[in-house]
Amino acid sequence: PLFLDHQSTTPLAPEVRDTLFQTYEQPGNQDSLTHAFGHAARQTVQKAKRHIAALISAHADEIIFTSGATEANNLALFGLVTPPYAGKQVITTPIEHSSILSPLKEMEKQGLTVTFAAVDGQGRVSLTDLESKISGQTALVTIQSANNEIGTIQPLSRIAALCAAHGVPFHTDAVQAAATEKIDASLPGLTALSLSAHKLYGPQGIGALFIRRGTSLSPTLFGGDQQNSRRPGTLPTALIAGFGTAAKLAHQNRDHDHHSLASLAQRLRDILIQNPHVDVRFNGDPDNRLPGCLSLTFGRIEAEDLILEMPELAISTGSACLSSSGGPSHVLTAIGLSPEEAGRTVRIGLGRYVTETECAFAASIIVAAYERLLKTQ
Ligand code: PMP
Repeated sequence: PLFLDHQSTTPLAPEVRDTLFQTYEQPGNQDSLTHAFGHAARQTVQKAKRHIAALISAHADEIIFTSGATEANNLALFGLVTPPYAGKQVITTPIEHSSILSPLKEMEKQGLTVTFAAVDGQGRVSLTDLESKISGQTALVTIQSANNEIGTIQPLSRIAALCAAHGVPFHTDAVQAAATEKIDASLPGLTALSLSAHKLYGPQGIGALFIRRGTSLSPTLFGGDQQNSRRPGTLPTALIAGFGTAAKLAHQNRDHDHHSLASLAQRLRDILIQNPHVDVRFNGDPDNRLPGCLSLTFGRIEAEDLILEMPELAISTGSACLSSSGGPSHVLTAIGLSPEEAGRTVRIGLGRYVTETECAFAASIIVAAYERLLKTQ
């Protein structure tokens, strides 16, 4: 099938595959500096760090490697907000990824107050509501850069400025935005930012937390003194090298990828909208959005039936992280969709290597499947 689920993960860039194979050829622990293998590994890690830092306008020493964004998000929350939690508040949105919402639930059980800033029908956070909820107890604001289900991009520089004005640290989960959007970690007011390589055509199992110089961060794992003990454990040299290559490519191709994905998505939308038989609505912010992410709510046809009817296409209902849990997506319900509408919603994620022909093919498959299902009703 044609892979159109790039919000769940991305295929490896061929350049990244080359880097991985080359790096795996040698043993090397960047903290074993009594021999040349260790020194070579250290150089590899440093080079990758520079590419990752450059992608987000950060300094290399502000990057901490983690096993992915789930761990980076957990490290940001537990590392920046320390016990006792009673009397402390974290402000977030109802449409964050579960790797933000679940740790916050745990912290809430231990006394933390979790407050949700309102989002509108397109998933945009209300800055007025956010500001009204900041108080003397606010220990952290965490708001994603872009949503993984509906593609809406948040006004990061305005949120960061607001947090700076109130002297409150701000973390953003930038996992989905990093491949196609300009992410500026040097924004005044931005304290921490999470990344994941596998959403950038890099390998799975490696991510990073940017943490601004001078910020105190409590570790969540305890072990050796790697990464200044802020995240101990032997660094996976090859995964990091692959992440570095992916970041370098994302940096070089960002504008091109953005524009070509936007035009592919436009083409897909046009074919669906112009078909008189297809009843479809598009979710999320129509303007400030991830160019390759389409969230479509169909009339009358269930998402699961549609997906089963199209074995040629690999697309998802809601988000992959939730599709096993059964209930309607918390993101779709937070932007006002009924559970029934959420059940008629699919997500299509276009990516760097999807061609125009494939996109037109996908549109024709969707139209044909939709028309067949309508007839069987
Ligand atoms: N945040 C967002 C917005 C995501 O889309 C994902 C992946 N679905 C994650 C965090 C978790 O990333 P990882 O798979 O690297 O743990």
